[in-house]
Amino acid sequence: MRTLIVDDNPLMRETLRAILESLGAHVTEAADGNLALARLDDAALPFELIVCDLRMPNRDGIQFLRGLAEHNVCAGVILISGHQADVLSAAANIGRRHALNIIGHLKKPFSRADLRDMLTGFAARDRRPVAAQIDTPVDEADIRRGFEAGEISVVFQPKIDCTSLEVVGAEALIRWNHARLGPIPPAIFVTVAASSALIDTLTEFVLNESLSLAAKFGLGAPPVPIAVNLSTHSMSRLDFADRLFATVNSRGATPSAITFEVTESRLADNLASLIETCARLRLMGFKLAIDDFGTGFSTLEQLQLLPVSELKIDRAFVGGANADTRARSILEASLLLGAKLGLACVCEGIETRAEWDLIRSLGHHIGQGYFIARPMPGQDLVAWMNTWRTRTAGGTVA
Ligand code: C2E
Ligand code: MG
Ligand code: MG
Repeated sequence: MRTLIVDDNPLMRETLRAILESLGAHVTEAADGNLALARLDDAALPFELIVCDLRMPNRDGIQFLRGLAEHNVCAGVILISGHQADVLSAAANIGRRHALNIIGHLKKPFSRADLRDMLTGFAARDRRPVAAQIDTPVDEADIRRGFEAGEISVVFQPKIDCTSLEVVGAEALIRWNHARLGPIPPAIFVTVAASSALIDTLTEFVLNESLSLAAKFGLGAPPVPIAVNLSTHSMSRLDFADRLFATVNSRGATPSAITFEVTESRLADNLASLIETCARLRLMGFKLAIDDFGTGFSTLEQLQLLPVSELKIDRAFVGGANADTRARSILEASLLLGAKLGLACVCEGIETRAEWDLIRSLGHHIGQGYFIARPMPGQDLVAWMNTWRTRTAGGTVA
């Protein structure tokens, strides 16, 4: 693995080099952030791993992370520091905000085993092509063209009762495989579509694909609800609930087959109509979830205002809850709050066995994440369910 070590302390660089080389890395060193950015520019092939100290002269680790983002670096990044754990985890979060592929952080002194474990986890996971696409400009016309050309599809990610290990739902997630640019993340094109009526076309498409899946496979007995994400832009229109109901009705399905997931609803002018739409959807028999709870606009206020039946706790508090005591406290408090309000709690983004074990130890909850399954095409779900049954035959996840 092509690796760049950035640390102002020569002894530390030497120690890191010895460990990383013993793990098979090809190492380049830099004594501060400026030199490291120059190494990035000089490298014939991009680095795959960057191990970086936080406190350095000239350009500190936080400024260096910004530099990495500006260079669209896709390498995995490990942060190391003698600072307190909360400073380190704040730095890691800043890196993630920059869309960098932050593998984790290590507090000095750390052992060879600590570093090796972190790298093993990294190698086992997909190395994500992160920042390269984030700036890709796409516009409404392009999305329309893609939609008409059949480049847009829907995948489904199972939701599991962490206690009984039963499949209790699946979330529909939209995908765009652009003919020229390759996969475009929904976070980018959904936002573009949401500024016009195009978002309704996409929502309608996802809802129809979800209904087809439910009809075709009758997933589970009784059928498990499919979750469909809604954009708040659509929800502030007063006929929106009726349109969704009409679609479900025309397919001979019942509203209980669908859960709608709602995120940002702080667009103050539209708040009244948004609450109205949510309440009417519930009256019609749909289930409603608050998505990404704890981040952005997904707030306590929403919990008070919106008639939701499910709380989806953002993966920011699930991933890493084992290592980050603050994330863990927020996770535990959110689960308690959900239980107190009588809501089903879904923990999003369970990636590792350690995270899965933690969630299970925290009570009776629902889980979703790569540890259970990645999002997949609808036709793969039945085969996956069979594999899942085998994987959980012993009452635990093999
Ligand atoms: P979301 O609704 O919170 O969906 C969960 C996201 O987390 C999905 O990203 C999913 O692929 C990802 N995910 C699931 N498990 C893991 C895990 O273990 N680790 C990590 N790192 N990620 C995991 P995706 O598909 O890229 O979607 C991003 C967001 O785009 C969604 O977040 C949702 O807000 C929006 N979105 C996706 N499809 C639609 C849609 O049909 N309509 C609307 N309005 N928004 C959509
Ligand atoms: Mg969602
Ligand atoms: Mg979410």
